Amino acid sequence: MALFTPGRRWQPPFFPFKREPFGKRLLRKTERWIKGPLFGCRMCGNCLLQETAFICPMECPKGMRNGPCGGSTSEKCYVDETRPCIWYRIYERAHKMGREEMLLEVLPPLDWDKVGTETWGDVLRSVRRSGTSAFLKSRFSSDPVKRSGAWESVFKPVRQPDWWMGDSLYHPPAYDEPVSELERRLRSGSFVVTAEVAPPLGTATGKLKRDIEMMKDLVAAVNFTDSASASPRMSSMACSKVAVELGADPVLQIAARDKTRSGLQSDIVGANVMGVHNVLCITGDNARIGPSPTSNTNILDMDAVQMLWILRRMRDEGIYLDGRKMKSPPKLFLGAAASPFASEPKFQALREEKKINAGAQFFQTNLIFDPEGMERWLESLDKRNILDKVYILAGITPIRSFRMARYLHHHIPGVTVPRHILNRFEESREDDHEEIGVEIALGTIEKIRTGKGINGIHLMSVGWETIVPRIISEAGL
Ligand code: SF4
Repeated sequence: MALFTPGRRWQPPFFPFKREPFGKRLLRKTERWIKGPLFGCRMCGNCLLQETAFICPMECPKGMRNGPCGGSTSEKCYVDETRPCIWYRIYERAHKMGREEMLLEVLPPLDWDKVGTETWGDVLRSVRRSGTSAFLKSRFSSDPVKRSGAWESVFKPVRQPDWWMGDSLYHPPAYDEPVSELERRLRSGSFVVTAEVAPPLGTATGKLKRDIEMMKDLVAAVNFTDSASASPRMSSMACSKVAVELGADPVLQIAARDKTRSGLQSDIVGANVMGVHNVLCITGDNARIGPSPTSNTNILDMDAVQMLWILRRMRDEGIYLDGRKMKSPPKLFLGAAASPFASEPKFQALREEKKINAGAQFFQTNLIFDPEGMERWLESLDKRNILDKVYILAGITPIRSFRMARYLHHHIPGVTVPRHILNRFEESREDDHEEIGVEIALGTIEKIRTGKGINGIHLMSVGWETIVPRIISEAGL
């Protein structure tokens, strides 16, 4: 285990994918020998230690570089239960050191041309560019603003390359007219309902079409999951196309788990041509909870925050990540998942703010069974003044059985089913379970619908699509 990191070293460091001159090799080896034992450095080529309270984020088995995933808990990482969630430790240490606000900066994905190479050479070049003597003078100045300014002038260009230029600011959408029915209804102030339809396992589209037809006049938009629980099904893109043909407004879900940067960008341009404008960016359930054999547990190409940043810039600046310009940029209404119970509300609020800054315009939350806990999360968002920058749709699921309640509680990352609900199922007859599940869902909707910052609900029926019309009608939505 490295000296200054609360985790343990995940994997051996990377080596460069190219030949390097002697001087660079020597610098690389020195950096590795020093930062390896101290920080568990993997030589990612773009060091973020200063932004992450001096804990290397590359400890995360998913390769998350912008904060924890929805499955993190204070006790353990859900991908590898033998270690703590390194992002939780980063949040705790940043809080103690007063460096929390630094966690808001949207950090870039790895540049694989630099992976395995040293970062120190970049820092030295950056010092030279900003003027060595001016830098040293400012560093020893008695003025703290000058001192930190000098530091930033050297390190920001290193960690934020020209092709990324991430920051910690809010960027309002650069367009006026709503691009989808969902956005139109949210802007109008109505209490909005969206519903999820599980994509079919095979190529038959009969049930999919019936579900869409049943829901399209009841909800503002229909979500299609992207291989939820890391189990492959019909793609969200194909389902979204079917929805457009049937006159429904689809929400295309995209999991970073299965995407590369180039795949994401080309898919989005194509989706727009098909009439798909709502896009929900999620990091995605890890392969660890999917069926066997388990595929790669690393998500190293990008995370949900980076997806939002890339797509927002495609829409508002008309550029691809590599800088190429588009004459007709895609029209997008961008969403993200929010996980009110994944970590302490104050930490979670930082994570949600970062997603909003990156480009999230609406949140669809994880399943809510504890309205009071949801309230605490909303208060944390309110303290950070972000409730007026995002629309929030609370995730509601009718539980059908005690088995399902236990499964959600124990196996779905970021979901907590309170003890009193588990007891209620356990102590009742199996025949009554569906009715109890509907009652609990209706009770939750009743409690949260007037909450400050709640703009609607997102119904996740987990294969029980036929219950959606009843819930909508009995909830009076
Ligand atoms: S962020 Fe990258 S360079 Fe910095 S310690 Fe971690 S692996 Fe090493």
